[in-house]
Amino acid sequence: METDTISAISTPMGEGAIAIVRLSGPEAVEIASGIFKGKDLNEVDSHTIHYGKLVDPRTDELVEEVMVSVMRAPKTFTREDIVEINCHGGMVSVNRVLELVLGNGARMAEPGEFTKRAFMNGRIDLSQAEAVMDLIRAKTDRAMNVAMKQIDGRLSKMIQDLRQDLLQSLASVEVNIDYPEYDDVEEMTNELMLTNTKKVHAEIERLLQTAQQGKILREGLGTAIVGRPNVGKSSLMNTLVHENKAIVTDVPGTTRDVIEEYVNVRGVPLRLIDTAGIRETEDLVEKIGVERSRQVLKEADLILLVMNYGDEITEEDEKLFEIVRDLDTIIILNKTDLQKKINTERLREIAGDAPIVSTSLIKEEGIDELEDSIKDIFFEGELDTGDMTYVSNVRHIQLLNQAKSALEDAMNSMEMGMPIDLVQIDVTRTWEILGEIVGDTVGDSLIDQLFSQFCLGK
Ligand code: GDP
Ligand code: ZN
Repeated sequence: METDTISAISTPMGEGAIAIVRLSGPEAVEIASGIFKGKDLNEVDSHTIHYGKLVDPRTDELVEEVMVSVMRAPKTFTREDIVEINCHGGMVSVNRVLELVLGNGARMAEPGEFTKRAFMNGRIDLSQAEAVMDLIRAKTDRAMNVAMKQIDGRLSKMIQDLRQDLLQSLASVEVNIDYPEYDDVEEMTNELMLTNTKKVHAEIERLLQTAQQGKILREGLGTAIVGRPNVGKSSLMNTLVHENKAIVTDVPGTTRDVIEEYVNVRGVPLRLIDTAGIRETEDLVEKIGVERSRQVLKEADLILLVMNYGDEITEEDEKLFEIVRDLDTIIILNKTDLQKKINTERLREIAGDAPIVSTSLIKEEGIDELEDSIKDIFFEGELDTGDMTYVSNVRHIQLLNQAKSALEDAMNSMEMGMPIDLVQIDVTRTWEILGEIVGDTVGDSLIDQLFSQFCLGK
């Protein structure tokens, strides 16, 4: 048990009008009241906030005007007494407050130490602690929601249920070993073991399938804009970014575009990429050929293929469609303000299943429809129900993969008619691996490693 009182700045450095210096530990209230002029913080009710002044007790010098919240254990994030000092957001003032606190009995918190204490004191489990970390890093609202749900313990609950299933069959093996004379016990044990391992295996596979989605939520949907020169790729990029960062030019093929942009389209994080000049695809196909282009474009999660309404479909276009076949693609039929020259029937044919959205980027028309269709392509199927638990954490993914292969070992052993106590070993291993996700079977060093990744003050 750690019993000292820790402190850190718990708001982002150099941002915002207000900064918070947080204290946690048995001395939190006492330390704060020793430097606070206002109400006696030792006497105030828990979960109340108080205006006053911070004064250096050695010099009687006024340091800051502050609001101080007092929250007493156990109904706090760390389950320890917590004091939060709200002060002006500037670097100088917040650092002075922190120095004052550290000079009067608190110790500087290590990165992630608040969350670590919450974990150590049983307030949250490990996957929840990691969700806090993801939350700190979450880039979009959607990613935020996923992180929030994980904090609610959905993943933890699911993993605990799976472990319970495994435990149940392990328990029945014990019964079987204790009473080997009953044949039907053995048969039931084998059956239960097989049913449960299959069920847990399927569930783990499903969780792993969400991992890709989780990655996209945090890193953005890798999106490539392709099309012949001058169709409006840079204009599209600009429209999506809503800032004129990419350079638009009238001369075909002279675009000098920004390499990567990150935009949030209706909750879908798009990472607009330009791998090896993907965006100037005519070069791509000519230089590196159809097969290689396909390889490059495969790296993208989404392709936006831009066509010109005022121009015929060329051989180059047909090649492009061939390249993006089987990839998630949205066709953007741009320049609808021009005289129609494109053969729309033919376009529909070569587009296959891909949605076609008409735009005039110059007149700012069709952009809502485009954003809708980006949202649809991303959230189609189960994803939009909000009913899904995403696995978005690299450590979880690794452990789930290990658990999956341990279960496969168990299933193989059963198929080969191996003795049940051999199967038991693999199932026990799976149970332990799953336990590591929720923090039940981890050693101290792993915990230290995990928590040191956290932002200071969290
Ligand atoms: P890129 O070469 O594919 O990147 O195309 P650009 O975005 O650089 O656009 C080429 C030219 O087409 C520029 O002069 C744009 O202003 C123009 N353009 C883009 N969108 C439209 C549109 O919807 N209608 C018309 N008439 N011109 C457009
Ligand atoms: Zn361009």
